[in-house]
Amino acid sequence: MARVADSVRSQFRGMCEALASLVLPAPCRICAQILDTGSRIPFCRACMSALTQTLPEPLCAQCGRPIVSTAVVEGISLPQCHLCRYGTYAFDFARSFGAYTSRMSRAILQLKYANVAPLGGWFARRLAGLVEHQPQDFAADAVVPVPLDQGRLRERGYNQAELIAKPLARLLGIPFRSYLLVRTRPRPNQLRLTRRERWETVRGAYATHKTAQVDKLRVILVDDVFTTGATLDACSRALKGAGATRVVGLTVARALPLSPALEAGMSDRDFGE
Ligand SMILES: [Zn+2]
Ligand SMILES: [Zn+2]
Repeated sequence: MARVADSVRSQFRGMCEALASLVLPAPCRICAQILDTGSRIPFCRACMSALTQTLPEPLCAQCGRPIVSTAVVEGISLPQCHLCRYGTYAFDFARSFGAYTSRMSRAILQLKYANVAPLGGWFARRLAGLVEHQPQDFAADAVVPVPLDQGRLRERGYNQAELIAKPLARLLGIPFRSYLLVRTRPRPNQLRLTRRERWETVRGAYATHKTAQVDKLRVILVDDVFTTGATLDACSRALKGAGATRVVGLTVARALPLSPALEAGMSDRDFGE
């Protein structure tokens, strides 16, 4: 009953916001600056331009992480980060559009909690740009969003990865298959997880749906953020275990070691990616 009331309340709030935006100048949902444009995406120009910054190259050929030391990549055509050299990930390769900055995290939160669907389309166009850059590497038969567990999906009403993956599939002309993967074990309720906890909570937490035809399938797996890569890895293992021949990951944002962490003397390895 409380859920129904919440949902009615949030729908009502959504209607009020939509009406208010017609008559009142709306603030940027990232920095609160008053918007001077009638864009369907409620971000100011400065925030939009910051969001279009791509990751600094060179990137690890497999996981797409920017490689900081150029000494590592000199003379190597396909450089790899230390995690990929150890064979950490089950996906064939992964790419992300931009860095997970505070602006990007707020933009993604809008997608998660405010259901700003046009934003899903905007992110999808950024990801389609990455695919066009490497069309052969991204050749695929299905676009699959990383699933939420049923409880979380019911609570939230939508899956943010799906809000990006669906318009992306349409842009690429590749079938959208949200039912291929299921999350069989829920994520723990705590918001922040350590790197080790992230790996432990997703290990074996995904499976392919029992009716899904996955054999020999090439999959583009879509999520909002690549944090440790544990989620994309767990989904890739489930898909490959069911016969998928190729799994490539695409995420809007990529968590990178930030300077305060590096200043505090943490190595890349402690930090995560
Ligand atoms: Zn702004
Ligand atoms: Zn790598």
